[in-house]
Amino acid sequence: MFFKQVQRHGDNFSYIIADDTTREAAVVDSSYNAGEITRIIKAENLKLKYIINTHGHSDHTAGNQELRSISTAKIVAHTLSRINPDIKVNDGDTLNIGAIPLKVIHTPGHTPDGICLLVNNQKLLTGDALFIGECGRTDMPGGNSKSMYNSLFHKILKLNDNIEVYPGHDYGSKPSSTIGEERRSNYTLEPRTLAEFIEFMNQP
Ligand SMILES: [Zn+2]
Repeated sequence: MFFKQVQRHGDNFSYIIADDTTREAAVVDSSYNAGEITRIIKAENLKLKYIINTHGHSDHTAGNQELRSISTAKIVAHTLSRINPDIKVNDGDTLNIGAIPLKVIHTPGHTPDGICLLVNNQKLLTGDALFIGECGRTDMPGGNSKSMYNSLFHKILKLNDNIEVYPGHDYGSKPSSTIGEERRSNYTLEPRTLAEFIEFMNQP
């Protein structure tokens, strides 16, 4: 599997995933990195099939149209996304690039349309739900601490400890981690009741 984390402009991370044999590829959150992504796609001779957004915030959807203009790729987002994607996905859906499954896990809280993508059952692209050592904020329009609690504790932390975590922003001490490492060291994931978590998130 070809897998590359791209950070060229600002603190947004973009991801390129491709099947080694078919060269089919997906980009997740093109952000402000479309130029560098285009360069890599050409250099690696990839066929861009999907442009996927973890949520509709403009710092993640930036670059969608630029990538679309150089390919026949479809834009993919959750059903609740405020952008109008070519393909709408829901919790549990799976997209395939070559032999690689990309499983959609709906993780609202930062926004209603937030999704994580489980790549080949090995790597979790967490968008703005979970960062290294931090979780996404819930005080922006559409944010919801109760939804974030369910997404973090009832979905993301249900995954195996060895799954790698790749966030949507470079906010941590390193660019990636694992579910187990975050479970042990991320202060936002310390055991809390729902009420305790909501109070925690409401602290200034
Ligand atoms: Zn966001």
